[in-house]
Amino acid sequence: EKLIKEGFEEFSIPSKKSTPKAKVGDKRSQDAYEISKKIGRGKYSEVFSGVNTLNQQECVIKVLKPVKKKKIKREIKILQNLTGGPNIIALLDVVRDPESRVPCLIFESVNNTDFRALYPRFTDMDVRYYMYELLKALDYCHSMGIMHRDVKPHNVMIDHEKKQIRLIDWGLADFYHPGEKYNVRVASRCFKGPELLVDFHYYDYSLDLWSFGCMLAGMIFRKEPFFGGTDNYDQLVKIAKVIGTDKLHEYLKKYDLKLHPHIQKIMGKYPVKPWDKFVTNENQKYMSPEVFDLLDQLLQYDHQDRPTAKEAMNHPYFAPIREQQ
Ligand code: ATP
Repeated sequence: EKLIKEGFEEFSIPSKKSTPKAKVGDKRSQDAYEISKKIGRGKYSEVFSGVNTLNQQECVIKVLKPVKKKKIKREIKILQNLTGGPNIIALLDVVRDPESRVPCLIFESVNNTDFRALYPRFTDMDVRYYMYELLKALDYCHSMGIMHRDVKPHNVMIDHEKKQIRLIDWGLADFYHPGEKYNVRVASRCFKGPELLVDFHYYDYSLDLWSFGCMLAGMIFRKEPFFGGTDNYDQLVKIAKVIGTDKLHEYLKKYDLKLHPHIQKIMGKYPVKPWDKFVTNENQKYMSPEVFDLLDQLLQYDHQDRPTAKEAMNHPYFAPIREQQ
């Protein structure tokens, strides 16, 4: 199957190098991509590995399912803003399938290993390294005014041989504007911050730091997902069983929020469960006072109290990585 560049000038990527912007009729507009095999599927797309037939360069082709044009435009605009940033997946091109007219996003390809097989192989230093690199991507997108809103292991591609990490799937990302009301139906259930679960619409970049905290906890305790709620209500209960209910009620009071009646019904009174209760023979190699302190900071109900990505990068847990770099 061939995909050609056609009628997508509005999305053509301004090249930072000497290649001029592609237009229909230009030589570059003949760019064609061949799909080889399916490598993934999401709610909003089917993803294939492929090749650019002009230069034989490998790529990843994300064939979008029919969604609102506005959503597609937002994902492309965000990728155009972020491409070239540290550990951000690079968008190489935007094309349309000539027959179906379906828009396709062309990305750099990452030789990813599924996290379920990969994370258990990590050393303590691997975890610190990749999480530090992930923070670079978050710090960069936040500095560009963008919240990712779907940070989770499925969206972090790792080529362990190259020690390369890329944050993918910008389909739920949005530009942050202070005071704007945002949809709380973002992020995947197990990575949703408390703000989403209590219906607080004025969240910000700090949402990504909660999801990042869930990922870190999952990695070091080898418990994926770390907070495994069965639905959005139970999700808050699973969180409360670890970080306690006292702080939850303080949080609700501070922002003048009320729990959904169903959550009130199923929520008990829970103390804080100390991190060392999660330690097993298997995961003890990842433990340190530093990682417990970082988790304390990230996994806080009050989004305003969480560190920024930059602050998290400066945490003592990452000192060995900072020294290496
Ligand atoms: P979701 O339903 O999770 O939001 P989506 O439809 O937005 O998914 P993506 O998350 O962008 O689609 O991609 C789906 C899957 O395809 C990823 O989880 C990953 O396995 C694979 N994939 C996507 N981009 C790449 C890439 N650049 N390199 C390697 N694999 C990729």
